[in-house]
Amino acid sequence: MTGTAETAGTVTNWARTITYTAREFHRPRTLDGLASLVARSERVRVLGSGHSFNRIADPGPDGVLLSTAGLPRVIEVDTAARAVRVAGGVRYAELAAAVHAHGLALPNMASLPHISVAGSVATGTHGSGVDNGPLASAVREVEMVLADGTTGTTGRDDARFDGAVTSLGALGVVTGLTLDLEPAYEVEQRVYTELPLEGLDFDAVMAAGYSVSLFTNWREPGFGQVWVKRRTDQPAVDFPWAAPARVPLHPVPGMPAGNCTEQLGVPDPWHERLPHFRAEFTPSSGEEIQSEYLLPRSAAVDALYAIDGIRSAVAGVVQTCEVRTVAADTQWLSPAHGRDSVALHFTWVRDETAVLPVVRRLEEALDPFDPRPHWGKVFEIPSAVVRSRYPRWYDFWRLTRSVDPSGTFANAFVRDHLGLDD
Ligand SMILES: Cc1cc2nc3c(=O)[nH]c(=O)nc-3n(C[C@H](O)[C@H](O)[C@H](O)COP(=O)(O)OP(=O)(O)OC[C@H]3O[C@@H](n4cnc5c(N)ncnc54)[C@H](O)[C@@H]3O)c2cc1C
Repeated sequence: MTGTAETAGTVTNWARTITYTAREFHRPRTLDGLASLVARSERVRVLGSGHSFNRIADPGPDGVLLSTAGLPRVIEVDTAARAVRVAGGVRYAELAAAVHAHGLALPNMASLPHISVAGSVATGTHGSGVDNGPLASAVREVEMVLADGTTGTTGRDDARFDGAVTSLGALGVVTGLTLDLEPAYEVEQRVYTELPLEGLDFDAVMAAGYSVSLFTNWREPGFGQVWVKRRTDQPAVDFPWAAPARVPLHPVPGMPAGNCTEQLGVPDPWHERLPHFRAEFTPSSGEEIQSEYLLPRSAAVDALYAIDGIRSAVAGVVQTCEVRTVAADTQWLSPAHGRDSVALHFTWVRDETAVLPVVRRLEEALDPFDPRPHWGKVFEIPSAVVRSRYPRWYDFWRLTRSVDPSGTFANAFVRDHLGLDD
């Protein structure tokens, strides 16, 4: 049984900026139901928790949109192997709580825990930390239902593995992932205010904690807030560059801090501190559009000055901008592929007409630094230019052709960005 075919055309992403154009929407309840649905469908895209801001998950008007939310929520922790096998549709909040109950931990998390594991790693989702790769770098093994309904599994010893995790959903339906774990650890979080751009020692600031984020709304040069998450099993580092906040803060100035994870240096388990937003709250009203670009970390300060040069245009439509670091990884389509990166994130107001011209100006300003856009967010860089920034793009193109020769999982976004029609 595949679950009910619900009305397509009413399903939206989390921010309600995209209405998916599927012919059918299914929420299968069993793996067998999912496999037979895939085998008899010509065009399929999977929807995770719908936190992307572009048409990456949209199958198009003739396709089937398949949600993984109804499948059994498998979470199997193997304490001896320090690993967890998790169903693709499970969200990080649920996974983290289960893993922590076994005295174990994930190496890192994104800013909010409400996103699905398979959807996150498919787009190269990341948190922050000079030594922390994207969330996909914790993946040991991936299980997928392929276009013919059969199941395939690939692990790190497979030459194709580096194409299989950050795959944009272009290879199959990810039904299970095995992730690395480590012993549970505690994290304390402190927020500092008013860090100037002038004289910024970027590398030192970003290395002052396990995970560090800078926030600005570009109304002033410099950063209104710095969030420093420190593991209590690692040495404390002085933070002489800005003053500690005396009260809890929300990264968007003026928003209530109640839905943010606790600050002021109170230690708690890793999963209660690594995300900025508490699992039990919706992070914001969803009145937003997001963009993000990953650049070589060595270009961070020059890139920040380039944005400062168009500060008034950015300030007119941005709610907040977050600057993070991401360690290089090996996934062929990872925006952090092969280079230690700085990630420049923008939460815009939800007004596409006002935002898109600024996105284009921002992309022009960042162009000298070879930015790779986040796959799940809004960008305007032409697809051929995006492709040219991925040295292993052709390997992924060949992998897609061999795993999914009929293009069952290739929607317009994937065809365009991977050049599948070339
Ligand atoms: C409030 C908010 C905060 C965010 N914070 C961060 C952050 O801190 N860091 C960051 O990097 N990003 C962040 N993002 C972006 C988000 O992490 C990505 O868009 C991510 O893809 C969301 O996962 P999802 O399950 O919602 O994916 P969806 O939007 O549902 O899908 C994304 C892609 O994954 C594919 N997919 C989903 N599930 C499967 C599956 N089981 N098998 C195959 N393909 C699948 C879809 O087809 C699609 O191509 C944030 C987004 C929001 C709305």
